[in-house]
Amino acid sequence: MAPVLKVLLVEDNEDDAELLYLELRRGGLKADMVRVETAEDFTAELNQGGWDLVLSDYNLPNFNAPAALEIVNHYEKDLPFIILSGAVAAKDVVTLLKAGAHDFLEKNDLARLVPAIERELREVKMRTERKRAESTLKKLFRAVQQSPVSVMITDNKGRVEYVNPTYEATTGYSRSEVLGNLPDVMAGDFVSLDQNAEVWDAVNKGKEWRGEFCNNRKNGEVFWEYVTVAPIRDEVGGLTNLLISKEDITYRKEAEEKIYRQANFDDLTGLPNRDLTLDRLGQALERSDHAALIVVDVDNFKKVNDSLGHAVGDEVLKIVVERINSCLDQRQTAGRVSGDEFAIVVSEMNAVNEAEALIGRILDAFSTSLEIDDHEIFTTISAGIAVYPEDGVEPSILFRNSEAALSKAKEEGRNGFNFFTSHMNDRAEERLLLESGLRRALENDELCLFFQPIVDAKTGQIIGAESLIRWAHPNKGLIFPDEFIPLAEESGLIVPIGKWVIEEACKCIKDFHAIGFGDFYVTVNVSPQQVWSGTLVETVEQSLKENNLSAKYLVVEMTESVCLNDSDETLKKLQDLNDLGVKLAVDDFGTGYSSLSYLKRYPFHTLKIDRTFVRDIPEDKDDMALSNAMIAMAHSLSLKVVAEGVETADQITFLREGGCDLLQGYYYSKPIAKADFIKFKLAEGKAS
Ligand code: C2E
Ligand code: MG
Ligand code: MG
Repeated sequence: MAPVLKVLLVEDNEDDAELLYLELRRGGLKADMVRVETAEDFTAELNQGGWDLVLSDYNLPNFNAPAALEIVNHYEKDLPFIILSGAVAAKDVVTLLKAGAHDFLEKNDLARLVPAIERELREVKMRTERKRAESTLKKLFRAVQQSPVSVMITDNKGRVEYVNPTYEATTGYSRSEVLGNLPDVMAGDFVSLDQNAEVWDAVNKGKEWRGEFCNNRKNGEVFWEYVTVAPIRDEVGGLTNLLISKEDITYRKEAEEKIYRQANFDDLTGLPNRDLTLDRLGQALERSDHAALIVVDVDNFKKVNDSLGHAVGDEVLKIVVERINSCLDQRQTAGRVSGDEFAIVVSEMNAVNEAEALIGRILDAFSTSLEIDDHEIFTTISAGIAVYPEDGVEPSILFRNSEAALSKAKEEGRNGFNFFTSHMNDRAEERLLLESGLRRALENDELCLFFQPIVDAKTGQIIGAESLIRWAHPNKGLIFPDEFIPLAEESGLIVPIGKWVIEEACKCIKDFHAIGFGDFYVTVNVSPQQVWSGTLVETVEQSLKENNLSAKYLVVEMTESVCLNDSDETLKKLQDLNDLGVKLAVDDFGTGYSSLSYLKRYPFHTLKIDRTFVRDIPEDKDDMALSNAMIAMAHSLSLKVVAEGVETADQITFLREGGCDLLQGYYYSKPIAKADFIKFKLAEGKAS
């Protein structure tokens, strides 16, 4: 059904109005017609709104078409205005048409009326649609122009047809510089060919492509953008344009990169950290038939750190890295895997001796000392090598195996390297088992002290005993300290174990005294870590107090390595022990640094000559001379001398003549359990 036309008619003659109405009906138009005769009524009706058409007589008694047209022109709607009248001069018609009237019909020739109305309505519709489209386009254009995102439109070959101001601001290129060119998003320096092909591939398939590009601004600055390339197609599906929008994500990228660096690189040296190194190892294994992982550890680094401070330690590490790096080629990359441990991934190896040659170069690089501030520091390194695929195909296995090879190299005296062999793993596993066992040993009460008599060289009387730790392992039986003390030292377990030893020794002294051993003392062995760890003095003091013991019955034995950390702090610890009344003994003298200055500087009371000097008496004249010299020197410093490892009567005679004060060794007794020791000592009482 045709819609009802709302017609506003300017007409004073009712008959004419009727005629018009009929004419419209005849032409098939339904009209809702309102007739007005004055400007006021006309204006009022117009303002009511909703009109489709104005038909106006030319001349009315109080109104006319030109006046009505003027009013309509003020009305914001596009309203067809058709004038109906008797004869009017041609020039007036032209004036009216110019003023905006849409048509002019003679009242006595209304045949054109309906077609004219229909034409006008059609044109109004077209005009309205065009206006709407124009305004939408304007809005879109404004949006694109003002978009915070760079927008580029290219033709179907990728040649730029349009860029928005954000594009110009971001890249520094003006519109005129890029129009007609291939955009940098397709051909930028940093855009890989792969990416370029990928974009076209997607576009040709009619798909959108999204991704990140690294580009250059006009001033050369590198920036990152997140790019969407969308194909624009015509009605028949042909590619006409590409719409490319690009968001500058440089800040985000920089933040991401920072986070990545923090998570993957070591701050101090700038090297990849352990995770990234393992990652790179994995990549190297993928592209290599043969590869190797070398782990390098700085010898005695802890000592440098402890004695010269962390700042110097850091400098040492930096120089170590420089030296290692200077030995590497492009197929070899280094990472820092822990404090003083580095790993070198050797990829695409032709022969195993490449890794060996590299290690040789690195070891050589450390043949000269490092100079830091005023310190001249000799640093050596140890290394372990695991080879792919022979020693493992997984990064983590290669890593574990090269570390096993490294510990072997360390054990063998440092400043060297070792290839991994399969039995190292057994050892490593065994050590691991032993370590966890040792942890349990403390809780499960599997540790015990044995005692070895210390005899007065003059009287032959047992005046004291050295306590020596044993581990009664539930499966392995009695384990000797040489097998687990080094492990305890490495794992830090030595501190709680050492504490137990002191407490247990004090309890035993109390028991010995209760039995009536008289003025009898016991020595305990302590490791350097115990001295440095800070709680030794408190532990000793506490244990003596708990057992109500005088400090003079306790002797603390330590090797000279304690003094390696020759600091005021170490001195203070030893002085504190001495102040408690506890005596200090230097153990195994003659095997280590044997520095007289330590003996003078620290409050030692006793010197124990290592059994290697006693062993070959009386055959080895050198050893005999040396032990005599040690006795004399110790006496000159007012130290008592104990000879360790005395096994024969000849040795006793010689040492006694040399003035040795005390003797200890298998000749008298091996270290024995507490109960046995008590029997042994009581038997001595009976024998004499
Ligand atoms: P050390 O303190 O020098 O102890 C003397 C070692 O020499 C003992 O070995 C003892 O059994 C052995 N020995 C004594 N007389 C003779 C002899 O006539 N001939 C021979 N061939 N050997 C003799 P042990 O008990 O196996 O202890 C080994 C080392 O373990 C000790 O050497 C000491 O450094 C360490 N150690 C023992 N107990 C402890 C402890 O409680 N704490 C710490 N930190 N170390 C300990
Ligand atoms: Mg000892
Ligand atoms: Mg000793």
